[in-house]
Amino acid sequence: MTLILALDFGGTKLAAATINAGSKQWLGYERRLSPTNANADTDLEIMRSVINSLLKGAKPDAIGVSFGGPVDATTGKVRLSHHVLGWENVPLRNLLEEEFGVPAGVDNDANVAALGEHRFGAGQGYDSLFYITVSTGVGGGWILNSQPWRGSEGMAGEIGHMVVDPNGPVCLCGKRGCVERLASGPYMAQDVREVLRNEPQRHREPRGEILRELVGDNLELITGKVVSEAAAAGDNLAQEILYRASWALGVGIGNVANLINPQRFVLGGGVMKAGEDFWEVLQRVARETALPEVNFEIVPAALGDDAPLWGAVALAEDVLH
Ligand SMILES: [Zn+2]
Repeated sequence: MTLILALDFGGTKLAAATINAGSKQWLGYERRLSPTNANADTDLEIMRSVINSLLKGAKPDAIGVSFGGPVDATTGKVRLSHHVLGWENVPLRNLLEEEFGVPAGVDNDANVAALGEHRFGAGQGYDSLFYITVSTGVGGGWILNSQPWRGSEGMAGEIGHMVVDPNGPVCLCGKRGCVERLASGPYMAQDVREVLRNEPQRHREPRGEILRELVGDNLELITGKVVSEAAAAGDNLAQEILYRASWALGVGIGNVANLINPQRFVLGGGVMKAGEDFWEVLQRVARETALPEVNFEIVPAALGDDAPLWGAVALAEDVLH
């Protein structure tokens, strides 16, 4: 038996699992929330305690790691985390290899999730796919010729910062109208809040009534998920914002299809729960954006929130061979 340890350092969540190579069943599985004031040291400390409780003294044969931020996959060194302080230039692969005395593979979450979906999920049997995660951010990972394709410096797949509306609102990256600026949960929530704050409730045609109701008029409680719920319940403002998000993703996907022509787009993250209208608009806009001769499918991720963990298993299997 070959024991694999899979780790997922997300921005807000930490997860770990153990599995025998070749199996489809976790031996152990644990998920923890990362504290709000987390830094790299506290994340590592929590992860160590999760690992100890999973391994119970056993020694893994290989370790695979999904990290929520840019990583140099060739050295296994984390460049930084946009959500958690203190991750600048942490040699995560070396740390784990020294601590456990076994080989490890480390890559960023979108690349790892793409690998997971390719080997165990919605991408099985396809030799080209683009995985897109849409949640707090928007990221992407490539599988081309059945292999991860990371680009010359590991920066391939940044669909989140593809500009789809040059006159749109300013994104954290400094540009306007990026896919992430229009389609990520926190930005959708921010835009909805701004409209609700600036629009008096006695407006002739009030917008966002259901949104206000859902959060008891505490606008701080609005999240991407709340926007989806309000849209499904018929809220006009939420529907407008959600439509713009699906439109932005559709334009991004259509352009990527024209450029690289992958067989499948696999979508994971919070967007999986965005509702039927969202998917319908996304499919239609992507189709309208791509050339008629360019064929592709857009499908939901099969592994859900566990795609990075399954990808970490695949990474670990690969470092053994
Ligand atoms: Zn951007």
